[in-house]
Amino acid sequence: MPLSIECSVCGEGEALVGVQRFDGIELSCESCGNTWMRPTAKTCATCGSDDLQTVPLAIVERSRGTQLSVVGTRPVDLCSVCDAAQLERYHTNRPNPLMPDSLPTVGEEQMNG
Ligand SMILES: [Zn+2]
Ligand SMILES: [Zn+2]
Repeated sequence: MPLSIECSVCGEGEALVGVQRFDGIELSCESCGNTWMRPTAKTCATCGSDDLQTVPLAIVERSRGTQLSVVGTRPVDLCSVCDAAQLERYHTNRPNPLMPDSLPTVGEEQMNG
């Protein structure tokens, strides 16, 4: 994947190291030591819109019996066009995280890879 990224300090375009972070890619310049976050161009994979909202999606695990418990959240990008229903559901239930469409069932393979 061709990247057109340059260090904003010294203009270096090749001696750059990218590290995947939680919220994007952190780049560091080996020439001058400058580090910065690469703005991730987020677009909807379905319609190409860049009108995305990052919302916390609940990580649900089935505990003993039939109890489902929210063990955490992870950020997901929802398209205001394609995921309008989910966004509305999220905003209705705020500040609770968005619940996933499919809840884990017993015997299903674990998602935490
Ligand atoms: Zn630099
Ligand atoms: Zn979309």
